[in-house]
Amino acid sequence: MRVPLLDLGGQLKPIREDIRRAIDEVVDSTRYVMGPRVEEFERAIAEYCGVAHAVGVSSGTDALLAALMALDIGAGDIVITTPYSFFASTGVIARLGATPAFVDIDADTYNMSPAALGSWFETHRDDIPRVKAILPIHLYGQCADMDAITAIAREHDKYVVEDAAQAIGATYPSAAGVRRAGSMGTLGCFSFFPSKNLGAIGDGGMVVTSDERLAEKLRRLRNHGMHPKYHHDMIGGNFSLDALQAAVLSVKLPHLESWHAGRRENATFYDAHLKCAGVTTPAIAYERENHIYNQYIISIADGRDDLREALTAAEIGHDVYYPVALHEQPCFQYLGYSRGDFPNSEYAADHTLALPIYAELSEAMLGHVCATIASALNAV
Ligand SMILES: *Cc1c(COP(=O)(O)O)cnc(C)c1O
Repeated sequence: MRVPLLDLGGQLKPIREDIRRAIDEVVDSTRYVMGPRVEEFERAIAEYCGVAHAVGVSSGTDALLAALMALDIGAGDIVITTPYSFFASTGVIARLGATPAFVDIDADTYNMSPAALGSWFETHRDDIPRVKAILPIHLYGQCADMDAITAIAREHDKYVVEDAAQAIGATYPSAAGVRRAGSMGTLGCFSFFPSKNLGAIGDGGMVVTSDERLAEKLRRLRNHGMHPKYHHDMIGGNFSLDALQAAVLSVKLPHLESWHAGRRENATFYDAHLKCAGVTTPAIAYERENHIYNQYIISIADGRDDLREALTAAEIGHDVYYPVALHEQPCFQYLGYSRGDFPNSEYAADHTLALPIYAELSEAMLGHVCATIASALNAV
């Protein structure tokens, strides 16, 4: 039985006509970049996330880039983040000429360790004035421990930029009440890359904030910093969101909660059926309801390569997110880190594996994945 890592066909089927109609409307409107479709989608996302403002941009990467630009981050500044993430979260810091400083992840949740963040501030006293922001990633669909992280940021008067690319709709049980991913920092960044829980039919992204001044600055930055027309007080980029993507995403948004629920059900199945020696199922940091399972990640104590071969032979899609921690990437060697600096990130890079988790998986498919893993691990 073939089980792809991700198959968007099942999600598309029941909404295909609605999507075709939305596409036709955009085509006929002749408004293809920004415009009313984008504004409507921005309002819907702001409401969904519980923030005052949402600014549509061209991708999740550009959301992060524009967010850091809005905070005037550049040469001489430090941004603290984790080395176990998709490349973009650190890439944008370096692209702006700022210096990424890494702190390790929590071994169980893969998110920024507040203890490691706290000890960075203890051990880098001289660098603290150069730190502009802390950039936690809500990895795999589960929020980082934001009360602890924002408390440290407040103590040192630093911004917090949330990389919520994998976590739209994930919730966090803050002491101040339940909050959505992206709404707890100074700025929150989303991606609508097709493989995210809310995926476009191309690239798209969003920055959310409740700071009116920053929202206005972001609206200018996404259009070369222009305001008024052909006048530029600042240098921005072309980060605008296509009307086509906004229209498709507006059709999809009302279904998002049920897709999250389907992923949670599949995760519940895996958690119950992958209880074999040598496999660690993903840790639930809060409650399962808080998690949106953009990825379902297991950790294999020994023999990940053998298991991957068995999965391939059984036609089961799988992947490693991410096989090389960012401090070990060739392009970041100039930062001066080395093997052993972030043991939890390195362990995760060496031992984890992503399994299919999309909502439309059948119980037979889930059973096939679990049976294949059980027999592969018993055989070694
Ligand atoms: C997908 C992703 C991004 C980048 O989003 P794009 O839309 O692909 O540019 C950034 N950070 C994380 C953690 C991601 O998963």
